[in-house]
Amino acid sequence: SDHTLDYPKSPQHIDWQAHYPGVDPGKKPEYADIGCGFGGLSIALAPLFPDSLILGMEIRVQVSQYVKDRITALRTANTGDPKAHYQNVSIVRANAMKFLPNYFEKASLSALFFLFPDPHFKVRKHKARIISPTLLAEYAFVLRPGGIVYTITDVKDLHDWMRTHLENFPLFEPVSEEELRVEGKGEVVDAVYTSTEEGKKVERNNGEKWLACFRRIEVPRV
Ligand code: SAM
Repeated sequence: SDHTLDYPKSPQHIDWQAHYPGVDPGKKPEYADIGCGFGGLSIALAPLFPDSLILGMEIRVQVSQYVKDRITALRTANTGDPKAHYQNVSIVRANAMKFLPNYFEKASLSALFFLFPDPHFKVRKHKARIISPTLLAEYAFVLRPGGIVYTITDVKDLHDWMRTHLENFPLFEPVSEEELRVEGKGEVVDAVYTSTEEGKKVERNNGEKWLACFRRIEVPRV
C-alpha cells in the first residue's frame, strides 16, 4: 500500500534541482517513464536527450532505490561527458496512478511511456490497470499537444485494452511505428522495444511484443 507516501502539493513545490543537480535550474521533466521498474528505458533515453529531463516513476521501494543508485553510479562514471552525463535522468518513488498532475504541469510532457505494465489479468482487477478513461484524462492534461504516449506489452489482451481505451479517448489519435520513425523518433521506438529489463525477459522467452502509440491532439475528435 502507498498510503504512507508523501506527495508534492503541486509541481511548483518540487525541488527539481535536487533531482537534476547538474542541469539548468528551471528545467522540468519532459519524458516520464511510468512504472519504470529497474530503469532501463529512462537510462537509455538520457543520452538520446541530453538537454531534456527524464523522470522514472516506480512504486516499489527497493526497486526505486536501486534505480537511484544506478543513476548515481552512471553520473560518477561519466563525469564530463556532454552527451551521456546522466544528470538529466532521475527517479521518484510514487504511485503514478495517483496525483500525476502533482508532479507534472499541464502540457509539460513530450512523451509518456508505459512499458510492460502489470497486466492485472482478472476482470475484477481491470480497474487497477494503468490505462483507464479517468487516468487518460490526466495523461492528456500533462502531455503537450503533439506529445506521444508509448505503450508496449507482451500480453495481447492488455494491448487490446490499452489500444481500445486510447482510441476511444477524444484527445488521442493513433500514430504508427512507421510515422514515428519518419519523424525521427526511431531511436526512442527502439529503446521502447529493447531497453527495459522486462522487454529483455520477453525476448529471452521468445515472446511477442505489442506496441501501440498515440499522439495527444489539440482539438478533441468528435
Ligand atoms: N517498465 C519496466 C520494464 O519494462 O522493465 C517495468 C515493468 S514491470 C512488469 C511493472 C512495474 O510497474 C513494476 O516495477 C511495478 O512496481 C510498477 N508499478 C505498478 N503500478 C505502479 C504504479 N501505480 N505507480 C508506479 N509504478 C507502478
